Amino acid sequence: MNNHYPHLFEPLDLGFVELRNRVLMGSMHTGLEDRRKDFEKLAVYFAERVRGEVGLIVTGGIAPNRVGWLAPFSGKLTNRSELERHRLVTDAVHDEGGRICMQILHAGRYAYHPFSVAPSAIKSPINPFRPRALGRHGVERQIRAFVRCAVLAREAGYDGVEIMGSEGYLINQFLVPRTNTRTDEWGGSAEHRIRFPVEIVQRVREAVGHDFIIIYRLSMLDLVEEGSSREEVVQLGRAVEHAGATLINTGIGWHEARVPTIQTSVPRAAFSWVTARMKHELRLPLIATNRINMPDVAERILANGQADMVSMARPLLADPDWARKSREGRSQEINTCIACNQACLDHVFRNERASCLVNPRACHETELNFVRTRKPRRIAVVGAGPAGMACATVLAERGHEVSLFEASDRIGGQFNLARCIPGKEEFAETLRYFEVQLKLTGVDIQLGQRVTASELLAEDFEVFVLATGVTPRIPDIPGIDHPTVVSYVDVLEGGVEPGRRVAVIGAGGIGFDVCEFLTHATGVNGADVGSWQREWGVDPDFHRRGGLRQARPMPALREVYLLQRKSGKPGAGLGKTTGWIHRTALKNRRVEMLSGVSYERIDDDGLHLRIGQQSRLLTVDHVVVCVGQEPLRELQAPLAAQGRPVHLIGGADLAAELDAKRAIDQGMRLAASL
Ligand code: FAD
Ligand code: NAP
Ligand code: SF4
Repeated sequence: MNNHYPHLFEPLDLGFVELRNRVLMGSMHTGLEDRRKDFEKLAVYFAERVRGEVGLIVTGGIAPNRVGWLAPFSGKLTNRSELERHRLVTDAVHDEGGRICMQILHAGRYAYHPFSVAPSAIKSPINPFRPRALGRHGVERQIRAFVRCAVLAREAGYDGVEIMGSEGYLINQFLVPRTNTRTDEWGGSAEHRIRFPVEIVQRVREAVGHDFIIIYRLSMLDLVEEGSSREEVVQLGRAVEHAGATLINTGIGWHEARVPTIQTSVPRAAFSWVTARMKHELRLPLIATNRINMPDVAERILANGQADMVSMARPLLADPDWARKSREGRSQEINTCIACNQACLDHVFRNERASCLVNPRACHETELNFVRTRKPRRIAVVGAGPAGMACATVLAERGHEVSLFEASDRIGGQFNLARCIPGKEEFAETLRYFEVQLKLTGVDIQLGQRVTASELLAEDFEVFVLATGVTPRIPDIPGIDHPTVVSYVDVLEGGVEPGRRVAVIGAGGIGFDVCEFLTHATGVNGADVGSWQREWGVDPDFHRRGGLRQARPMPALREVYLLQRKSGKPGAGLGKTTGWIHRTALKNRRVEMLSGVSYERIDDDGLHLRIGQQSRLLTVDHVVVCVGQEPLRELQAPLAAQGRPVHLIGGADLAAELDAKRAIDQGMRLAASL
């Protein structure tokens, strides 16, 4: 029995196979599944997670036929000529002693191409393509495609398949009146609507034999109008059990749902209650999902009997050794997924290879490696923000002698401000990770040291890395020195207590975050699952189909205006998968967002604006300036003048469009090259 997390590390006996622990690496599209040439990389990526002791892996979605493709030329398994590339993956996983299932995903009306099919010709609100309604033969062809795909997966060496029945993809579309208006034997009554997945599971089981894992991903809470009712979910779960599934995984929310399900502001384990309810209804082992990112959370779910396994996708991108570190009681060393979506889902939705903000090696394991140096050098890294911490730890890990200078009395740079934003509490985990990592790698940290060039030159450093970050930009607006004008730094650090009415100049990421901070009634760590459910309209009692109810946003703490000069939607530059959440949250708290603004002056009356031909006065108590930053690199010239190598990373290099993803990536890549 494991002393640290006994339930998490209890093996799970599936009858014909035993899983070494309860950690499932959930399906996550990385982009590596889509091209034959990338399967080597995919194999290395999975093998690294097996060495990290994950119990069972599920691949990203693989289409069973072309019409089911998520997008043209995305991953599919339809014939034997494709087996070889999949064997690279299964061999790599088995060579390391791991187990892997392939997810079969038919996109249905979510397919981003003109050949999509669905039970009925109803267009999705998030896809421009209208699907073709399947005829009876068409339905039969899709079922056969699932079966053929599962048989091929077995031939390719997979230990099983996951049949993707949630998130609003084809199977889910058959289940509910929202997308299925058929009147034949595949639509109408609940029995008819659930027939499609039940046939698939039954026929797959018949074709693959008894000793092959079939995970069915059951949409337990659709979070869309006209989704499944609670009774229908139970009915389907039982039917799928009966049809021959081995494990039932939890699906939460369709992609078109207007409720966030995995983003950082969603409380940890916010949906474990959904799986827990099904524990009373079903016999098969159940897998809990969504916002489980640390072992104590996972252990609690299992110990409380809410589920039999926990699924994590992004946390295993962030740290391939998650399970091993947990088993060894080294959870403080886990590089925690902060649920930002910035390098994983945002990339995938832009058709780019996934990676991870806190771990740029994710999906780049064959390209970015931290090899021990043969020529250790004395290196000074100045600035302990994300760029400097990432660079210093990798340099030290590689064997260099590293001193890290930080002006403030704590590490973290701007992440110390980011973690003050309600809903961004997870950012503190990155600071904890680096704090531990700096100690483990033996970096000499000098806090409270705003070093000068002459101090640095007085020591025998061979290389300088400047990670000194940025200074907030000051806009050229008459009255900018008025006492009511403050910087976002003053507000977030607590130096200024803003009044009841506030104008925020600049609607970038920081402007949005400051509005969240100003309006949030409960502050950081305030969102318990119950109040979060009320805010977003999630009904734990499942009174209506889909599990939705009227959203009851918390009243705003202040009256806030968010302003930008550009015309067009504020927040257009925010994350692809998260921008809508920030905009909705602020709209719910009645933040007035104004675009196409020109700033005339600030005086005792407030902020004078012009929007088009109209003048407007905002009678506010404070004006918070969030208009971007400029690089801080005053040390560069004097150091370079002495002829020693000087490297700039993060904000010190380029402040425009800077984020922590770029800062950490740049820091680690430089460190890998020195
Ligand atoms: P910084 O974090 O600015 O660190 C620079 C460090 O150098 C500072 O600690 C400073 O004290 C130190 N320093 C400067 N000069 C000296 C000197 N002479 N001697 C010693 N030390 C010195 N990014 C995201 O990707 N996602 C987000 O959701 C996100 N949210 C944010 C929310 C807020 C409220 C803020 C303010 C920022 C957010 N960011 C976010 C941006 C992100 O924090 C920055 O992009 C990142 O911190 C930049 O890293 P850096 O290491 O280049 O610089
Ligand atoms: P930003 O994204 O560059 O936004 C600055 C805003 O200020 C712009 O919207 C700009 O819009 C306005 N502006 C710029 N110069 C101005 C001027 N001279 N006068 C008046 N307005 C001006 O910068 P930021 O919000 O400070 O964010 C910094 C970085 O942190 C961002 O690049 C972002 O990636 C990162 N960040 C990310 C997140 C996230 O959730 N991913 C959150 C916070 C921060 P107009 O010119 O139209 O007015
Ligand atoms: Fe998690 Fe962000 Fe990394 Fe995605 S990019 S895995 S959400 S930390």
